[in-house]
This record gives sequence, structure tokens and C-alpha cells, in this order.
Amino acid sequence: MIELEGLTKRYGEKVAVDQLSFAVRPGIVTGFLGPNGAGKSTTMRMMLGLDRPTAGDVRIDGQHYDHLKDPLKYIGALLDAKAMHGGRTAFNHLLCLAQSNGIPRARVDEVLDTVGLTAVARKKAKGFSLGMGQRLGIAGALLGDPRILMFDEPVNGLDPEGIHWIRNLMKSLASQGRTVFVSSHLMSEMALTADHLVVIGQGRLLADTSMADFIQNN
Ligand code: ADP
Ligand code: ADP
Repeated sequence: MIELEGLTKRYGEKVAVDQLSFAVRPGIVTGFLGPNGAGKSTTMRMMLGLDRPTAGDVRIDGQHYDHLKDPLKYIGALLDAKAMHGGRTAFNHLLCLAQSNGIPRARVDEVLDTVGLTAVARKKAKGFSLGMGQRLGIAGALLGDPRILMFDEPVNGLDPEGIHWIRNLMKSLASQGRTVFVSSHLMSEMALTADHLVVIGQGRLLADTSMADFIQNN
């Protein structure tokens, strides 16, 4: 369970996230919908402890992020999939991540298998397609076997097969009792993925409702 209480982020005069309060529950996929620039990424970065709120609070299972031991085992996230693997092979990227977080090496092979990258594990991630890069990012998010998973616009630019795969993965993670929080600017995507919907616009909360109720009322 993730709880936000009056979460706010200002950049100078600009209010990117404006007093957001909502909870993300385990066992379902919660969609985070809003147009580009609505404040989704900024909110997710604060939920992950990567950005400091101007005001307000995020609690993860009742604890502040700063107080979590082994955060990778609590929360896995897919933010910007491109950047981070440099010139490494997929295997080495994951192994380094595992080693710096006290995660056993055997887990690397497991997550490579889960995301379907075993056959290309010794190839450089730099040469990967967008879809393969996304899978590698997701493998990293799954490495610590976390109870909470957050995905920022995971299907952007993917082909239908990749989109289908990510959607099913999120549903299966939720059905294992995990907390799954996924952002998108597309209602059509959310309708096919999420059980519950949090909608924001210009940093403000517009709706926090079950998908069924949202569809009935909009
Ligand atoms: P979304 O993920 O919904 O597209 P963002 O969280 O990326 O929205 O951005 C929300 C708003 O905050 C936008 O107006 C964006 O320009 C602004 N913003 C985001 N990051 C910064 C930053 N580092 N400095 C200044 N403004 C920012
Ligand atoms: P790079 O320099 O490409 O970032 P490193 O040489 O730092 O990769 O390797 C990252 C980690 O992976 C190190 O802990 C290293 O011991 C381990 N490693 C490197 N090559 C292999 C390999 N072929 N099989 C298993 N582990 C490896």
C-alpha cells in the first residue's frame, strides 16, 4: 500500500504537483491517467524517493521511504527505460544491480527468463530495440521481488505484441497480491489494463475511482 498525503512539488512559480492525496492498494492494477505535463512522472519520482516533495508526504506500508531498508526489495520501478545500461550486456547490467543491492546472482537468470531475454542476455543492451529495452528495465524492477511495482508510461512506442505482454505481466503481478501502479496519457490503454483509476490534470486530483464506475460516469 502506498499513501500520498497532500503531496506537492513546485518548480519556482510552477506547481507541478498540487496537494495530491490518494492510496494505491495491493492486489489490483491502479492506473495513473493524465495528459502530458499533468505531473505523473514528478509524482512517481516522489513516490520512489527520487525527488523531494515541496510539501506533503509519501508512506509505503506506513513507513517513510528514507526509513525503508533495501528499497529495491520493496519497490521496483520502470521509469525512463533508455538511459541506464551504458555499454553493458543485459546480463551484466542486471548482475551489477543485483550485486549492489545484495540480491543473489541466481535471481538474474530468473528475471531474464521472466521477461524473455535469456537468448540475448550476453548481447549489449545498447543495441536492443525499444521493446527489448523495456523488458530489460522491467527485469531490473523485478530483481528484488518487490511487493510494489511502478511503471511510468511502459507501453509508449511499443508494438502490439509488446503492449500485450506488458499488460498481461502487470495483471499477473497484481493477481499475486502485489501493488501495481502504472501511468499513461491514454484512457484507451488504461481501460484495458487498470482495475482502479487515479486521474490528474495540472497536478491536481480529478478522480480516484474503480474503472467500472469511471466508465459508467464518463
Ligand atoms: P507528466 O509525467 O504527466 O507528463 P511531468 O511530471 O513530467 O508530467 O511534468 C509536470 C509539470 O512539471 C510539467 O509542466 C513540467 O514541465 C514540469 N516539470 C517537470 N520537471 C521539471 C523540472 N525539473 N523543472 C521544471 N519544471 C519541471
Ligand atoms: P561493464 O564494465 O560492462 O559495466 P563489468 O565488467 O563492470 O561490466 O561487470 C559487471 C559485473 O559483472 C562484475 O561484477 C563482473 O564480475 C561481472 N561479470 C563480468 N563479465 C561476466 C560474465 N561473463 N559472466 C558473469 N559475470 C560477469
